[in-house]
Amino acid sequence: MIVSVAAVNLRNMSVPLSVPLPDDTADAPSPRSRPALSPSRASDFKQCPLKYRLRAIDRVPEPPSRAAVRGTVVHAVLEDLFGLPAAERQPARAAELVPAAWERVRAERDGVDELVADGGPQALFEEVRKLVASYYELEDPRRFEPHALEERVEVDLDGDIPLRGFVDRIDVAPNGLLRVVDYKTGRSPGPMHEARALFQLKFYALMILRTRDIVPAQLRLIYLADKNILTYTPEREELDRFQRILTALWQAIIDAGRTGDFPPTRNSMCKFCDFKPLCPEYGGTPPPYPGWPVQTPIPADLVTERLPEDM
Ligand code: SF4
Repeated sequence: MIVSVAAVNLRNMSVPLSVPLPDDTADAPSPRSRPALSPSRASDFKQCPLKYRLRAIDRVPEPPSRAAVRGTVVHAVLEDLFGLPAAERQPARAAELVPAAWERVRAERDGVDELVADGGPQALFEEVRKLVASYYELEDPRRFEPHALEERVEVDLDGDIPLRGFVDRIDVAPNGLLRVVDYKTGRSPGPMHEARALFQLKFYALMILRTRDIVPAQLRLIYLADKNILTYTPEREELDRFQRILTALWQAIIDAGRTGDFPPTRNSMCKFCDFKPLCPEYGGTPPPYPGWPVQTPIPADLVTERLPEDM
């Protein structure tokens, strides 16, 4: 069951343990690497197979959007915030972290400067600070230590179904209960669109179950734009069923990969799609199908890039 909790005060949350963060030693990006299934890519394929193909197989470059970059900076600020001693995680200190987080994002992504060409990054800084301030209305970062931040999770279901994802935060309570947290800088979905959020939460829960053999006690999506929290408490049987759904989805992707049949499917997200010039639904022509990528390592950015709908 998915639950929406507006402006929850978490001061009574039990204090989790702190452990060193994982070192991300992911392979360097390659334009023709083997695709994997992440919540975003699974959602792409369900929404529009052509969009999946152009993103995951052809890897057609997409220009960064302001929303995506803003979201990346917010995530970087929150990560840096938890790197400080708990007593220093004051709202004013969080606001001070924004310029350094921005510089890091600039250094890592091309095309970011163009987004703030008019007037510099100050307006973006203010947008980020507003979202970070909203975070303080939902959680108090001085009252707990995360178990892990920005953790890359990888698991091959049944040996050959590659699931990949980045988990923003994992909390572990003294009694061992585990909570998975994901920050969203957009607004929470209405009842009509909760299925997508639930899909993502189940995806994370299944990855945690298969990598740690633990059913997370809670999964939490924190929506900063409208200060809302969605929580989900999974059950093992439900996750076993979800694994069968992902298995069928991956099989459909493999079948399409074999034939090159990735039909365009008009949907409500077309208006945000950068692939319109290549889409037959909008008068475009896709490039020749390059074939299913060879079995090379999966680059981190294939599963970790934050796209507008992930924010
Ligand atoms: S514009 Fe719509 S139909 Fe075309 S590729 Fe994008 S999502 Fe698919």
